[in-house]
Amino acid sequence: MFKAILIDKNDDIGYRASLADVDEAQLPEGDVTVRVAYSTINYKDALAITGKSPVVRQFPMVPGIDFVGVVEHSDHPAWQEGDKVILNGWGVGENHWGGLAQRARVSGDWLVALPEQFNARQAAAIGTAGYTAMLCVMALERGGVMPHHGEVVVSGAAGGVGSVAIALLAELGYTVWGISGRPGESDYLKELGAVDVLDRAEFAEQGRPLGKERWAGAIDVVGSHTLANLCATTTYGGTVAACGLAGGMDLPATVMPFILRGVTLAGVDSVMCPQAERREAWRRLASDLDLYKLSLIGEREVALHEVVDLASDVLAGQVRGRVVVNVNE
Ligand code: NDP
Repeated sequence: MFKAILIDKNDDIGYRASLADVDEAQLPEGDVTVRVAYSTINYKDALAITGKSPVVRQFPMVPGIDFVGVVEHSDHPAWQEGDKVILNGWGVGENHWGGLAQRARVSGDWLVALPEQFNARQAAAIGTAGYTAMLCVMALERGGVMPHHGEVVVSGAAGGVGSVAIALLAELGYTVWGISGRPGESDYLKELGAVDVLDRAEFAEQGRPLGKERWAGAIDVVGSHTLANLCATTTYGGTVAACGLAGGMDLPATVMPFILRGVTLAGVDSVMCPQAERREAWRRLASDLDLYKLSLIGEREVALHEVVDLASDVLAGQVRGRVVVNVNE
């Protein structure tokens, strides 16, 4: 038996997530079984646990789109017992049992080796949010955005993706601003490397189709008016990497920034991202993410039994940085 968060849904109980003892025989199909050390609570995990959005469509389901652990058994040629591995996405925690559990069984094709620069806890503190932040930085680089081109900006700055994006951009020499709804987190964001923090209310209303050119690049986790306003204020030839919908999934924008300023809107997906790009993202995280800043971002650790109560705080935007889950506590 092992401990896991289990989400169930039926007419008697409605939608319910709780800590449960699960029989190993119930683990789903897969050629690698992992002894999980740490998982995390991403925005999507919070949606799954609370049922606020239909992230989970099969029941019962173990949530957790991330885990870091040690291979216990492998029938996959790439992995041996004892290997330290990371899993992010691939529908795990949505349609395949996930990482908020002491054991997981997945396809070996989905795993990435733990970079030697990180221990298991640090890799979990990065998790999907941090690896997505790296994908966003790589999208800006692909768009040709260089530190000397001008200032860059990150929305949802005090959240998981935002915090890691700010730390990475600052480390890479960019002059980076944060956009946040939490003025109380300004000192934290400046310690991560933000030059200063703008109030998210300034971006939350319908703006002009084209505003004053300000940002050479932007990373947006918020969507809706914030994304539209960032596109409208990006400088000629700049890139906006969009990965999130914390403020809404609509995009009330015009084509003006794209056709008059050559702005690129780069979509970023971490879930089905091909292995070569994720390995590159983890390699870059290992070289470009300052470990002291990571310790600030991933300061908060909780036990498995605390996860369900915390999920609504995550959705309410009350959690700073990343929450690491020690599944063996
Ligand atoms: P977090 O909850 O850690 O952070 C989200 C942040 O967004 C909050 O901390 C808050 O920052 C800001 N925010 C929250 N609500 C609103 C709102 N109504 N309006 C404006 N800003 C708001 O989530 P993550 O960082 O893990 O994820 C952020 C987004 O990115 C989510 O939408 C998530 O689904 C998406 N995502 C997408 C991925 C992909 O593959 N495309 C992968 C990972 C995440 P502050 O308090 O500083 O304003």
